[in-house]
Amino acid sequence: MAGKNVVIFGPPGAGKGTQAVKLAELLNVPHISTGDMFRYHVKNDTELGITAKSYSDRGKLVPDDVTIAMVKERLGRDDAKEGFLLDGFPRSVPQAEALDGILADNATSLDCVVNIRVSEDEIRTRLAKRAAIEGRADDADPSIIQNRIDTYKSQSEPCLGYYKTKGRLRDINGIGTIGEVFDRVSEVFE
Ligand code: AMP
Repeated sequence: MAGKNVVIFGPPGAGKGTQAVKLAELLNVPHISTGDMFRYHVKNDTELGITAKSYSDRGKLVPDDVTIAMVKERLGRDDAKEGFLLDGFPRSVPQAEALDGILADNATSLDCVVNIRVSEDEIRTRLAKRAAIEGRADDADPSIIQNRIDTYKSQSEPCLGYYKTKGRLRDINGIGTIGEVFDRVSEVFE
């Protein structure tokens, strides 16, 4: 049984969010999605939301300092003391390093990174489908999709090497039904 300080990782469209909701429920920890947090701020027109939108609209990452401060504040709340499921963070090696620092300051550490693997072709198909269902602007435009895939490869994927070295990485095949993938995810925590 892995501990309950968990990151769920994977390219855009891997099905991370869906798996994250189910896993957070299984582990009884808060689901902390940086994408959802940014969308909340955008919707409410906060200063943070205006900044975030100028990046997310182009499929770019919101700058690390802004993102890290937001996550630090969230992880400092009481409900994250007994565990958390981070979804969409970290998305760069500096964010991964910052997370280790935040957790060390809170006298804890990361237990496990669940990496959902899917091919690039599958990602494109899934993002196009999600655009039709959820109406997310950043899923609809092929050039924005390409930006998000490129951003993932150049900035986010290197996190896998960071976590592999630390022995925290668990690879999951992301192809299959939601239930099939979740069975694989759950096995990590048996
Ligand atoms: P998501 O819903 O996780 O795909 O996130 C939507 C958008 O929010 C991303 O394309 C980024 O612009 C922004 N975002 C979410 N998480 C992060 C992060 N950890 N670092 C920087 N930007 C992020």
